[in-house]
Amino acid sequence: MERRSFLKASAALGCAATVVGCKTDSDEVNVVPPQPPLTEEQMNWSSCTCNCAASCALKVISQDGVVTRVESDNLGTDKGVELQSRACLRGRASRQKIYANDRLKVPMKRVGKRGEGKFIPISWDEAYSTIASELRRVIDTYGNDAIYWQYASGTNQFRAGGRESSKRLLNLLGGFLDMYGSYSAAQIAPASVYTFGDMSSSAYKQMNNSDLILSFGFNPSETRMSGSGGGLDYSLACQQVEAIIVDPRYSESALGKEHTWLAIRPGTDAALCEALAYQLISQNQHDQAFLDKYCVGFDEKTLPTSAPANADYKSYILGNSDDGIAKTPKWAAEITGIPELNIIKLADKLAAANAPYITQGWGPQRQANGEQTSRAIFMLPLLVGKLGIAGTNNGNWPRHAHSLGAMPIGTNSIKAKIPCFMWTEAITNGVNMTAVEHGVQGVEKLENSIKFIWNYAGNTMINQHSDTFGTAKILEDESLCEFILVHDVQMTPSAMYADILLPDVMDLEQHDIVANPGTDMETIIAMTSSVKPPFDVKSCFEVCLELAKRMGVEDGFTEGRSYQQWVEFVYESSRKRNPALPTYQEVIEQGLVKVSQSGEGIVMDKFIASPVENALNTPSGKIEIYSERLAQMSENWVLPEGDIISAIPKFCDTWEGARDTVTQEKYPLQMIGHHTKGRTHSSFHNIPWLREAVEDAVWMNPIDADSRGLKSGDTVIVNSKRGSVRTVTKVTPRIMPGVTSLPQGAWFKPENGVDIGGNINSITSLRPSPLAKGNPQHTNLVQIKKA
Ligand code: SF4
Repeated sequence: MERRSFLKASAALGCAATVVGCKTDSDEVNVVPPQPPLTEEQMNWSSCTCNCAASCALKVISQDGVVTRVESDNLGTDKGVELQSRACLRGRASRQKIYANDRLKVPMKRVGKRGEGKFIPISWDEAYSTIASELRRVIDTYGNDAIYWQYASGTNQFRAGGRESSKRLLNLLGGFLDMYGSYSAAQIAPASVYTFGDMSSSAYKQMNNSDLILSFGFNPSETRMSGSGGGLDYSLACQQVEAIIVDPRYSESALGKEHTWLAIRPGTDAALCEALAYQLISQNQHDQAFLDKYCVGFDEKTLPTSAPANADYKSYILGNSDDGIAKTPKWAAEITGIPELNIIKLADKLAAANAPYITQGWGPQRQANGEQTSRAIFMLPLLVGKLGIAGTNNGNWPRHAHSLGAMPIGTNSIKAKIPCFMWTEAITNGVNMTAVEHGVQGVEKLENSIKFIWNYAGNTMINQHSDTFGTAKILEDESLCEFILVHDVQMTPSAMYADILLPDVMDLEQHDIVANPGTDMETIIAMTSSVKPPFDVKSCFEVCLELAKRMGVEDGFTEGRSYQQWVEFVYESSRKRNPALPTYQEVIEQGLVKVSQSGEGIVMDKFIASPVENALNTPSGKIEIYSERLAQMSENWVLPEGDIISAIPKFCDTWEGARDTVTQEKYPLQMIGHHTKGRTHSSFHNIPWLREAVEDAVWMNPIDADSRGLKSGDTVIVNSKRGSVRTVTKVTPRIMPGVTSLPQGAWFKPENGVDIGGNINSITSLRPSPLAKGNPQHTNLVQIKKA
């Protein structure tokens, strides 16, 4: 029996017992009172809105306003437009999240030091008054650009009910300091834009038309393993197409699916790609006609006139440019750890493939040299001239976008934006942050440091940001950032740093319309709820509406619409752009609607067919192997020693990289992080079921474990220059020697200077990547010792 039903029944039985007790001297027959009537079970469609971004359909069964179980989409088949959008174990554990012990119940204010976690309950009225007066104070004292809307993705898929409300409110109040990029794909995004003009890619279904799938750090089987999240499409394709996987770790996406696993040292994918290029060019297996027609800068023939001599890609690869190094398979073998012969074999396979589907996950680019990694991988389909035809891809992550928009946020009067990873710098040193040194966009220089953080559903404030111990010190100093608002569903490590902490509704308690894009179909889900939000929680829309009232911008905020009308408005606006979508009424009535995805999903097919008529969104209209814009930036930007921006893709050694032998004297092991099936980033960490199902342990090769006297299950301390983490070991040949991997997303729990929660970011660095200024969280050197 569920908690509420139990309480209701026990209350009724308690009363009956009292009545009976009063009548012990009665002659009446002792009658057990009837069970109070329980309501019928009710089923509502909902969706998992976490930032795996697959938005799987959930069937929420409730009784008397309480969730009794969560099921998944069981309609349709396992193919095509009828594909079941089955949720994974994380989404199916959502009921545990609703009723978790650490669920935030009422508004609270901080009474201890920041981060200490001491709060007292307050009324909503006090919470609203405090937030409104702090917003007004910071705006009047410093200006709107001192208010920072923090990157957050805990309710990533809400279209009307999520974060847009808070941006909309802040814009009505004069604007805010916004951010760009993401913690997921910071480096690959500009790499793709500078090369292709956008981030487009082929759909998963084109894998089936391929004769070779070559992937780099690609792991949908652990990140999006739902019915239509990509994991299934990829697994099915691997059953019929040869799959070669390049990854330091033998992931679940490799397990039983791969034909070849090439274990590679982290951060060296670009060196492998350059050796493949060398082999293809030197064996005359490259497609010169394709490179001449569609690309800029492969060789001197297509090099822009602004470029210096020998600045083309071919000269660089063959050793005819400044560094004088031929990027041979032997050269790359020493860097990557992949034997020379295997590199040559891979080049031969690539040359022989009619339709190679080349792709990369977002792990390889989350490195100190991540932009170069992505651009180097983009070179492979260009070199063999296999693009724009069935079965091919341009090296980007497979297409996975849905057609629904979100609530409009209005116009931000503050034009400045910072890279989402640079907010700690913007707290300590905002007034000195510039476009050419820190990647500030919209203005040449920031006028203010951050004084107010609005954090909605985001655990990036402490957990998912880098150098957690260093970040904690910045946040603890109230003279720097003067006010922190957190609005979330549970007491996350980031919530501990709030000044005012508001309790949010959960996805299963919310009404909205979301979409799940599969490869052949798009699933539209009308999230309805018969679940009574427990305690005194309020949605982002409700909070912002009340603040809008108090701050005199209610009319602008609502535009006369109720929340439900906004849901309809957002959906209908999307339908105007895509008339193939079902009507609002159809979606509401059916709850779950599956519609066909249009087109074949072959990236750049139009450009390849007619490159002039369908010019790319690059300055030249072509694929830019040599980018004049990047050449200029390499001249003008202020970079720390060792950081490189280059006009063509180039492998470069980095701090704490595979060849940083100085740091390796003390910290000899490379460390990356990996996603597990038990968490989406840090979401779901507080669910004991999932912690039992998927262990948190640092992966070590037996060679590295043996040399340290370690075996599986040993408690160890992982040290980097930044900090220390306590965890246990998993000794396995599924990680290459010299490399270790710690599951990302575990919640930070400091104790005597050691993170006993096992959060990898306690050891990662705040130093951003050169171009994107993105998080380099897979570039780490560590030492591991028995605790
Ligand atoms: S975590 Fe992702 S794959 Fe799993 S149920 Fe949620 S949306 Fe689907």
